[in-house]
Amino acid sequence: MNPASVRSVDPGVAGRRWLGVWFTCCHTYGRISRNRDGTMYEGPCPKCGTRVRAKIGEGGTSKRFFKTQ
Ligand SMILES: [Zn+2]
Repeated sequence: MNPASVRSVDPGVAGRRWLGVWFTCCHTYGRISRNRDGTMYEGPCPKCGTRVRAKIGEGGTSKRFFKTQ
């Protein structure tokens, strides 16, 4: 199963260990965690297990909560 596509996250927001995500696959809210390298957030949908990733980089969204696509 391929990870759902999620936009990148602005480094200014990436200081948080967790990122809130609305999983459109199951219409449910969940959280994904920052990886050890601090390069992206990653985690599974709490209901179906579809993994989502969000890169941390310049030009990413500055929102602290966003939807999977
Ligand atoms: Zn799901």
